[in-house]
Amino acid sequence: MILPGQTLGILGGGQLGRMLAQAAQSLGFRVHVFEPAGPCPAGAVANKEVNASYEDTAALTAFARECDVVTYEFENIPSAPLAAIAPLVPLHPRADVLHITQNRQREKAWLRAQGIPHARYAEALDGDIAPAVADVGLPCVVKTADFGYDGKGQMKLASAGDLERAVATFRGRRCVVERWVEFACEVSVIVARSTTGEARAFPVAENIHTHHILDFSIVPARIAPATARAAEALALTIAEKLGVVGLIAVEMFVTRDGEVLVNELAPRPHNSGHWSMDGCETSQFEQHVRAVCGLPLGGVTVREPSVMVNILGDAWFERSGRSDAGEVRREPNWGAILSAPRAKLHLYGKAEPRRARKMGHFTVRDATVDAALARATELKTRL
Ligand code: AMP
Repeated sequence: MILPGQTLGILGGGQLGRMLAQAAQSLGFRVHVFEPAGPCPAGAVANKEVNASYEDTAALTAFARECDVVTYEFENIPSAPLAAIAPLVPLHPRADVLHITQNRQREKAWLRAQGIPHARYAEALDGDIAPAVADVGLPCVVKTADFGYDGKGQMKLASAGDLERAVATFRGRRCVVERWVEFACEVSVIVARSTTGEARAFPVAENIHTHHILDFSIVPARIAPATARAAEALALTIAEKLGVVGLIAVEMFVTRDGEVLVNELAPRPHNSGHWSMDGCETSQFEQHVRAVCGLPLGGVTVREPSVMVNILGDAWFERSGRSDAGEVRREPNWGAILSAPRAKLHLYGKAEPRRARKMGHFTVRDATVDAALARATELKTRL
């Protein structure tokens, strides 16, 4: 067991690391942050920040030696350097979990091998997607195997006419081609699993994406209770089979006939779990700290129906047109959220708002999901 007063190391210094650091400090832990890009949102609230490349094994091992347990908030960490710190300090989730989940080909192959339901897919071998598209059928979506997030590195193919452009775009790149799912909704379940094997699933969140970026998370999800139970059971099974210690977020599609298909795994706190900071007995960040430290897990009861809304850099430019043309930037109307009852604003301390950049989020709670969603939607337009 890692106890308050000891040091949690976080690899990656974005907003997830920041909220994780804050939760860890609330429990009395010290927090060190390792971030290649320079002064960062997590470093700003940590006891210590180290800026060095993930490939800098000397810096990484020195960092690890000062920590009692190390975790990460970011998937695209090269897994080889992590092998260097594994003998020095417990790393949770383990490097092999990261290795599987940071690459779509490995992740999908793992889901298939475990018999976990997912959309039909084929791997594009030899950098040519045409045979995989023929195998999967249209409509489909091509996704690069590495470094994809928020819809980056993806292209939907609706008809045969799209094939030529897609073949040229993805030539020579490792990809998976996935059957397009006409989903009724998207949901996610975040599971915490501790060093002791104790596991707990947060209630299902319903997620609405706009331009491939999470826009709203709604809890409880507006799905049938049996579907919610199936989604939670799947996520718990995945956490167990992977032997995750810490959090794992499982993104899923719910089809029109209530089938649940796993889309993506992320072994870290997840944007769709931010509602838990305000709407749940225990936040996902605190739960992650408890899990990696071997402390008892917290309760996951929903305090009140909650809707989380992401605040993107676009909010600084919304009324003045496009940002990239060098036009006026204005401060969003924080007063709208700050003065709204049962609304909570979280900003990540990022200096430079850019379109599509996650700058913060807010959560609205209310007696019903519909009421919370209506107020959240209204507040978003007033930002
Ligand atoms: P991903 O990066 O895989 O999470 O994909 C980003 C978003 O694209 C998802 O949240 C969905 O909204 C959409 N998407 C991805 N794959 C599919 C698919 N096979 N069928 C339908 N929509 C998809």
